[in-house]
Amino acid sequence: MSAIHLLLFDHHEDDAGAQPDLCDGARVAYSEGLMEPGKKKRKEPRPQGYATQPGTGPEGETCGSCKYHEVIRYSKNYHKCALTRGTWTHGRASDILVRTPACSKWEGKE
Ligand code: SF4
Repeated sequence: MSAIHLLLFDHHEDDAGAQPDLCDGARVAYSEGLMEPGKKKRKEPRPQGYATQPGTGPEGETCGSCKYHEVIRYSKNYHKCALTRGTWTHGRASDILVRTPACSKWEGKE
């Protein structure tokens, strides 16, 4: 291990225990050091798994009060509309927001 360690980090046996300084002592910000310049962070897609246009349903109702609202539980909760089940992806694009005004397919929970 010592030979590999010497090759990778170029420090000597008498430096045992010392961490190599890969930045020559300079502090490098995360965005400067790890992202290519000019490259933007990928945006999360907007939830758009609604059955029809949100806001076209009964006044004051939301997806959260609809019988088609489903919660998929893994380490987090994922809110989906059961009417769009065939188009569900394993991503945020097929999610819905619980507080979104109801669409015209809204039906109350029994
Ligand atoms: S109101 Fe109901 S049917 Fe419409 S998108 Fe929301 S959960 Fe689906």
